[in-house]
Amino acid sequence: MEIPVLDEGDIRTMLTLRGSEREELFIQARAARADVYGDRVVVRAVVEVTNLCRVDCDFCPMRRSNTRVNDVFHQTPAEMVETAIGVHALGVDVICLQGGEVPQTTRSVGAALPTIAELYGGRVELLLNLGNKTRAEYAWLREQGATSYIIKHETSDAALYLRTRHEALDRRLECIADLLNLGYRVGSGMIIGLPGQSLDSIARDIVLCRDMGVHMMSAAPFVPAPDTPLADAPAGDVELTLNVIAAMRLAQPAWTIPSVSAMRANVEGGQRRGFDAGANLIVFNATPADFRDRYLIYGKDRKVSSYEYVMDVVTQAGLTPGGSVFLTEPGRP
Ligand code: SF4
Repeated sequence: MEIPVLDEGDIRTMLTLRGSEREELFIQARAARADVYGDRVVVRAVVEVTNLCRVDCDFCPMRRSNTRVNDVFHQTPAEMVETAIGVHALGVDVICLQGGEVPQTTRSVGAALPTIAELYGGRVELLLNLGNKTRAEYAWLREQGATSYIIKHETSDAALYLRTRHEALDRRLECIADLLNLGYRVGSGMIIGLPGQSLDSIARDIVLCRDMGVHMMSAAPFVPAPDTPLADAPAGDVELTLNVIAAMRLAQPAWTIPSVSAMRANVEGGQRRGFDAGANLIVFNATPADFRDRYLIYGKDRKVSSYEYVMDVVTQAGLTPGGSVFLTEPGRP
């Protein structure tokens, strides 16, 4: 299927479609996904390694300002490996080790990676989501066996980024460039519905990430979480997020795009609809319960997706659960 190169204006128009025009958009997005991936959906396990974070994002209960009231944990390498053994037993070959942004994770996660890789005989996508680090740290983690990295730019609006994350967008973009340069398969993404965000800015998010050459993209509706400065802000629009998923699929058909659990937090059944809009990945939570209950990404009441739940969502969408799309590339990992 021939898809023209979309510019910001095309994408912005796609974000506004509703009714039958939107159904047509979703049909095109599903066709673009089928062209690249058939009916296969990547099933990924996430392991939450620490809830400690040095950043102070206005939307996150694990923000630095909450450290003293949060029950802090940092998994040991042995604990991470123990969880990976369970993921391996399920036949899942994508493991995401995710945590707040602290320098200590370089050592702890880096120490666990070779053992996990060995467990799989090297046939595993070891994906990290540990925030900004130095290029030397990324290089070392790659040597330890990391294959891919999620580092969401969250918003391409530099002023909004600074206002909500209290950090510079440019530094984040430098990290993305370093990771790409080091041979990682890189995922970016944005939050939909941050207070003050415009449709133009969302269209720019997509073009920015296509121009940078990332391999994975995500869009998550904003979830107002308790104990944060944005606790009383309105939730992000799941309907708009679905349009964003479809626009991303058409802007770069080869992107791996999740239907995220935040779709479920805001609207029951929202996560299945992400597949109708062109998503091709779903994540289940493999974190042991004791740690998981302290990982307050959307507050204490977040809905946790089990392996059984995500398999059910994929089947209901008429798709087939599958493994990493990167391991089949020549010369990987
Ligand atoms: S969103 Fe990530 S970087 Fe920001 S405070 Fe939460 S854990 Fe830290």
